[in-house]
Amino acid sequence: MAIVPLERKPLTLAERTYLPSIAAGLKTTLKHLFQPNVTLEYPEQRPAIPPGYRGAPTLVKDPHGREKCVSCQLCEFVCPQKSIRITPGEIPADDPTAHVEKAPQEFEIDMLRCIYCGLCQEVCPEEAIWLQNQFSLTGYTREEMVHNKQRLYELGGTLPDPHLKLDKKLAAEVAGGASH
Ligand code: SF4
Ligand code: SF4
Repeated sequence: MAIVPLERKPLTLAERTYLPSIAAGLKTTLKHLFQPNVTLEYPEQRPAIPPGYRGAPTLVKDPHGREKCVSCQLCEFVCPQKSIRITPGEIPADDPTAHVEKAPQEFEIDMLRCIYCGLCQEVCPEEAIWLQNQFSLTGYTREEMVHNKQRLYELGGTLPDPHLKLDKKLAAEVAGGASH
């Protein structure tokens, strides 16, 4: 294979003083000095999260503070990462929501496995699991990154709910019982 020697051009006098490069650098600095900032001083400043953003999955309660999840385990079944683990539990007979029959005794989402795909939200018949605007999750241990039910409700809070399915189910049961 032929070897082609490359000619290394000698530096001009101006290049040897570095002045053209310094001037070009200062020109770029001055150009940006008077333009609006494109960076944020995070975490003091937070970015605006656009609607429909898919952050960490969370559990939400209805506007009356009631648990919406009925522990059907559809989200656990559909999760491609097997991040969700649910332990179903029975609702005590004297509870006002006893007609729902089941609620999760424990609900865990492993955020080290989750890929934020949103399938759990899509499949949930109760609109109980939502990917909201939490984009910054940190922890010192792997265990901290497995969100338990309490943490999932802390992150999720309460969302508006025009359906209030718990009330509709109760009304349907009462109406069904009255007609017999
Ligand atoms: S967002 Fe996707 S990966 Fe994460 S828990 Fe839901 S279904 Fe699983
Ligand atoms: S979050 Fe929704 S899909 Fe998952 S177990 Fe609860 S009700 Fe079922």
